[in-house]
Amino acid sequence: MISWPTPSIPAVPGAGPAVRVHDTSSGQVRELAPGPVAGLYVCGITPYDATHMGHAATYVTFDLLGRALRDAGHEVRYVQNITDVDDPLLERADRDGVEWTALATDEIELFREDMTALAVIPPDVYLGVVESMPQIIRDVTALCESGIAYAVETPDALTPGARDIYFDLSREDCFGAVSGWDREAMMAVFAERGGDPERAGKRDALDPLLWRVERQGEPAWDAGVLGRGRPGWHIECTAIALEHLGIPFTVQGGGTDLIFPHHEMSAVQAAGLTDERPFATAYVHQAMVGLHGEKMSKSKGNLVLVSRLRRDGVDPMAIRLALLAHHYRTEWEWTDDTLDEALQRLDSWRKALSGNGAADPEPVVAAIRSALANDLDSPAALTAVDAWAAATSAGDESQVDGAGVVARAIDALLGVRL
Ligand code: ZN
Repeated sequence: MISWPTPSIPAVPGAGPAVRVHDTSSGQVRELAPGPVAGLYVCGITPYDATHMGHAATYVTFDLLGRALRDAGHEVRYVQNITDVDDPLLERADRDGVEWTALATDEIELFREDMTALAVIPPDVYLGVVESMPQIIRDVTALCESGIAYAVETPDALTPGARDIYFDLSREDCFGAVSGWDREAMMAVFAERGGDPERAGKRDALDPLLWRVERQGEPAWDAGVLGRGRPGWHIECTAIALEHLGIPFTVQGGGTDLIFPHHEMSAVQAAGLTDERPFATAYVHQAMVGLHGEKMSKSKGNLVLVSRLRRDGVDPMAIRLALLAHHYRTEWEWTDDTLDEALQRLDSWRKALSGNGAADPEPVVAAIRSALANDLDSPAALTAVDAWAAATSAGDESQVDGAGVVARAIDALLGVRL
């Protein structure tokens, strides 16, 4: 899958400190120690609707993490998937009377444009489910052969006797290690997040679907002993991460709504396939973004879309600044003031950068670096730049090259082009 163009990343003198982030599985802010290459896996979109601020917040947060890791001297290997075959996509295409492939193609294209506009560094590996089918089939087959997966009677299968495949959670004692949730908390969200607790024949209500055999009118792929069908949701990320990062990789990222079941299941399935533990050394999650008192979500229809703001002529850098003004672990709401505040900030920074001299760049560059390394504290980084801009605009133009250095730091570390 083609990703999108890589923005240029200016050089900034010096280097950032070791990066610390909040790891959901341990519940602690921990220093990442990835070695020379940091492996970053961020769960991608299901392409049935346009990018809203919740998604944009996620991809900008992990872009910030990638920038902080690069600044700390690591190479970053970034992998992202696209769930380009799954129930929500097929259901939306059916509802709208369009081909599911055409819907996916259009929405992936729009996502690429949004990411380019927001100056998000693209993944090195950007893969859809469809093009990852050989790895997924290989992994599900391996789980069947080792007895960790089992078949369930499937009366509505297109081929009589064909059976869906499920993962037996009782076979892996690390189940629960990512979320730390108890069974009651898991059961409370499983069905609304794509699970099928009521499915007859499962050994445990929470066992995740690995392979869904072909049904009438649904897309399907040949899969040898598994029979024609398509994968469950979680196995795609297991298979893609194992193939393109190996485990343990440094960080798995996504929205908090992916903690369970998606990240839990991706990790436990990987444990069933390998002897390596854990799946990722840290699991980092972006808090939900709301609108008018509710979580922004497709099902509720209360979306602020990046593409719509762009069409209205909003500077994408103001959108990025609006996102960075909120810490990734704090839930927040998009309001009418959100964008105005970001536009004012952008304006004040641009004014400060347009003079003949500027206030000393060294303290502000150090402050941005230390804020980002401290659990991606982007609001603190913006506040530091605000103070520098205010000092410069108030007449401190003591450093001839100051504006250039700060502009490069804002671009390289915060991804804001001025
Ligand atoms: Zn995923």
